[in-house]
Amino acid sequence: MNDNFNDIQHLNRIVLIVDDEAVNREILGAMLEEEFTVIFAADGEEAMDIIEDSYRRLSCILLDLVMPGPDGFTVLKRLKSRNELKHIPVIVLTSEQEAEVKCLKLGAADFIKKPYSDPEVIRARVSRTIELSEDREYIRVVQKDELTGLYSRQFFYEYARTMDIYNKDGETDAVVLDVEHFHLINEMYGRGPADEVLFLVGGAIREFLETTEGIACRSDADIFLIYIRHQADYSELIKLIEKKVSAVLSSFHIRVRIGVYEKAMSNIVMEQRFSYARVASNTLRGKYGKDIAFYDPGMSERSIYQEHLISDIHGALKNNEFEVYYQPKFRITGDEPVLCSAEALVRWRHYEYGLIKPDEFLPVFEKNGLIRILDRYVWKKTIEQMREWRERAVFTLPVSVNVSRIDLYDEDMCEYLLDCLKENGLASEDIYLEITESAYTDDNDQLIKAINKLKAAGFKIEMDDFGSGYSSLNVITEMPIDFLKLDMNFIKRINEDEKVLHIVKLIIDMAKFMGVTMVAEGVEVEPQYEILRENGCEIVQGFYFSKPLPAMEFEICFAD
Ligand code: C2E
Ligand code: CA
Ligand code: CA
Repeated sequence: MNDNFNDIQHLNRIVLIVDDEAVNREILGAMLEEEFTVIFAADGEEAMDIIEDSYRRLSCILLDLVMPGPDGFTVLKRLKSRNELKHIPVIVLTSEQEAEVKCLKLGAADFIKKPYSDPEVIRARVSRTIELSEDREYIRVVQKDELTGLYSRQFFYEYARTMDIYNKDGETDAVVLDVEHFHLINEMYGRGPADEVLFLVGGAIREFLETTEGIACRSDADIFLIYIRHQADYSELIKLIEKKVSAVLSSFHIRVRIGVYEKAMSNIVMEQRFSYARVASNTLRGKYGKDIAFYDPGMSERSIYQEHLISDIHGALKNNEFEVYYQPKFRITGDEPVLCSAEALVRWRHYEYGLIKPDEFLPVFEKNGLIRILDRYVWKKTIEQMREWRERAVFTLPVSVNVSRIDLYDEDMCEYLLDCLKENGLASEDIYLEITESAYTDDNDQLIKAINKLKAAGFKIEMDDFGSGYSSLNVITEMPIDFLKLDMNFIKRINEDEKVLHIVKLIIDMAKFMGVTMVAEGVEVEPQYEILRENGCEIVQGFYFSKPLPAMEFEICFAD
């Protein structure tokens, strides 16, 4: 904390004088008001009321012993019996020598003898008592986070509230900072390097706070909270973190997300301000290219909306609100593109919200595991559709379905698919499984086992969104995959950026070498298609050929 803040803090120390005699209150008040903010109570009852109301802000209580109603002893006893009150130092005002021992036993911090003599001495005693108690208080709660040297969460909130009290007019921001995919760093590189990342992030935050008044703590493993004087922009902080981390761990590319609840309203409790910041930061999940979000009330509406989606899913499954769309894939190794398969993509025709795209509801269902139920539903619908096409001799195309990483943890996933296929007179070679790349980095051994089981059962595996996340090229060598589907972002830039083209060429060569078939999705314009074809990509998918279509339309467009 800087000096400025300490000055304000000093001036704003509040001292409560409790005495039934007005003259005594006035004399003592006059002695102290130069240095402290002084408030008064005329009896024990009034004192207790004031203390209840504002105990967080009281720095010291000067307490007369002899009063009508509850006397000083009674007040002292009550204070010391309450956890939240017992830390406030009490100085007893007394003329009786004998009372001292009793008060000491009850926990008084010091004495001031009546009649009041030297103002200098009295001020010094009050100051010293306050300082001692503040030191003690900080020691009580300053459990610094050992790894980062930042505050612990408990102390952080306490301190943030104190900051508010002493800084009534200043605008402050509540900031939540998150290291994205931290658990992956933990799993892939182990605890040591992961801790190092946290240490470096903590160091960068501390450096940032040197020039901007504020405090910070590490809340959960990889979540940092910052309470700070309002800032217009936080991109400097992000740059600082990236710089610090890459200076030490050059092979790491970490991404941090920042959610800000700015210009916090004073009537909103501290913890709530941080949940708002959290809500803002959560909107950035998986959104590449954007790492700072400011809270607005609409975001809370969004989480309410998501709650609705969760409670509606079971009804929606019953009422067939989920529909499967199909997007064609074409083999482009010959002169003309030839239809070779399709990808099944789910849509939700919600009774109230209308057609919802998967990006809106899948992340919600992924978080709570409901995605498993939905995925199985989509697989089943797709397989039924395929049977129906076969029965009418429309298509015999293999179709790929999407598999979430949680599905792979289900012991009976393979059996479920096989049963479903069998019931519909199909076999495992008729279905391809698209597993998204992020699934490959969670727990490789478990994953390889799951995929091997599926392969042994005859399924073809397609690695989806390759290049979007953390895995490196050698994943292709480790994972028993059949198809490699390049992330759409490569294709977007393939006709504009030489470097991207170069990387894509490398990946294609590597895939060829490993005997893995290359698929490109998100092909939107002819030049992208041409480049892919020239460079030996074998299968393409994208708006240039067709959008995902309902089964009926797909049939109309692509059946011979
Ligand atoms: P994905 O597996 O990467 O699917 C491709 C997405 O790209 C689809 O979005 C598709 O409509 C879109 N797309 C296709 N061609 C183009 C193009 O040329 N340009 C652009 N900009 N986009 C194109 P969609 O249908 O919104 O699905 C989004 C994601 O949701 C999918 O990404 C997939 O990961 C997931 N998903 C969809 N259906 C299911 C499902 O049944 N189960 C699971 N687990 N995930 C699903
Ligand atoms: Ca896919
Ligand atoms: Ca994809």
